[in-house]
Amino acid sequence: MTSDTCDVVVVGGGIHGVGVAQAASAAGYHILLIEQTALASGTSGRSSKLIHGGLRYLETAQLRLVRESLRERAVLLRLAPDLVRRVPFHIPIYRDTVRRPWKVGVGLSLYALLGGLASDTRFATVPRSAWADLDGLSTRGLQTVWRYYDAQTDDAALTRAVMRSAINLGAELACPADFVSATRLLKEEGYHVTYREAGVEKERFCRALVNAAGPWVDLVAQRVAPAPPRLAIDLVQGTHIILSGRLTQGVYYVEAPWDRRAIFVMPWYDRTLVGTTESPYIGDPALVHPLPEELSYLKKAVRHYFPERNLDIMDGFSGLRILPQGNVRPFRRPRETIFLQEASGPVHYVAIYGGKLTGYRATGAHVVRLLQGVLPQAAPVADTARIPLTPD
Ligand SMILES: Cc1cc2nc3c(=O)[nH]c(=O)nc-3n(C[C@H](O)[C@H](O)[C@H](O)COP(=O)(O)OP(=O)(O)OC[C@H]3O[C@@H](n4cnc5c(N)ncnc54)[C@H](O)[C@@H]3O)c2cc1C
Repeated sequence: MTSDTCDVVVVGGGIHGVGVAQAASAAGYHILLIEQTALASGTSGRSSKLIHGGLRYLETAQLRLVRESLRERAVLLRLAPDLVRRVPFHIPIYRDTVRRPWKVGVGLSLYALLGGLASDTRFATVPRSAWADLDGLSTRGLQTVWRYYDAQTDDAALTRAVMRSAINLGAELACPADFVSATRLLKEEGYHVTYREAGVEKERFCRALVNAAGPWVDLVAQRVAPAPPRLAIDLVQGTHIILSGRLTQGVYYVEAPWDRRAIFVMPWYDRTLVGTTESPYIGDPALVHPLPEELSYLKKAVRHYFPERNLDIMDGFSGLRILPQGNVRPFRRPRETIFLQEASGPVHYVAIYGGKLTGYRATGAHVVRLLQGVLPQAAPVADTARIPLTPD
């Protein structure tokens, strides 16, 4: 292989792009990843930072997603103990909470079952005598507090750690570098890719192209010829705020009393992270930012459940979800990853839509399987389930 060819070009240095780079490098392929700004500068640095099965996805029967995410949670807790930490989660149930204690109990039982009944899937109610220790949680009308376990991470640090492991396996990173275009060369069975790095236009021939550009997925697809298939999507903005003050007992999973959406109130270093919202977004993904009404929405929820808390906002950030277009409320739409590829013949192009931080390893492995038919024979050099990940 010459320096101007490689097996796979990946566009996008979010968790999915680096996940594909790691999986493909571990499978023995030569990868170039192109990232326009910085690793995790898109959605992957603006998530809720949870490595979780997604308890609430049980309500929409996304069982496969929950099972896979719980499996990945277990793997990441093992591989990245300094990046992914097990944390207690609390679900307070008040007299007027829609989800009744028994229903949450059934949900937690199913969650434990899908997690293989491992020791970290145990859950229980918090005794009434311990409610006063719950970080100032309001006890007016409180009936039950469920406690179970999920995990938190630093999403940007995790993304960088996965890319480092891909580089250790031989992957190349061009960052900052802008993907300019890709043209399918039928005779050579691959793509001719152009990108711009440090003001210099560079070229590569690759067998396969992966569009992992997150909210920019369609903008990148528009630069590919012939035009690849595209999915009709909605971009939905999710905002978090960071409040001063610590939480000592873990995460609180509350329900906004006025629209019943789930909101997380989470420890974040020595501050408190609260999110998220769902606001339709149209425009340049790079310009997404918290809206005044989102800040009030999140503050109102915190004030309701933690009436004594200081509501000084230290910081805030917004990320963009990619959801299949539809009339259903964003909160209820499926969160499964969608892979789009050429309609027929061997797969040279894959675009990744949506997905979860938690499932990046499974996503990477799936993309490599999809591309297998066009990649040369290669001997695997590593197993991503055995590569430790460490913070920078
Ligand atoms: C508010 C919110 C909260 C979430 N919370 C969680 C959670 O707690 N747990 C969980 O598991 N999942 C969560 N998710 C889902 C998860 O964060 C996303 O699915 C994931 O981060 C998407 O990663 P990505 O790599 O596809 O996209 P991104 O992280 O957006 O990466 C795309 C990258 O492509 C780059 N790019 C774009 N165009 C070009 C170009 N022309 N040239 C080069 N590079 C380009 C961008 O700069 C960007 O870095 C959340 C999502 C949102 C929106």
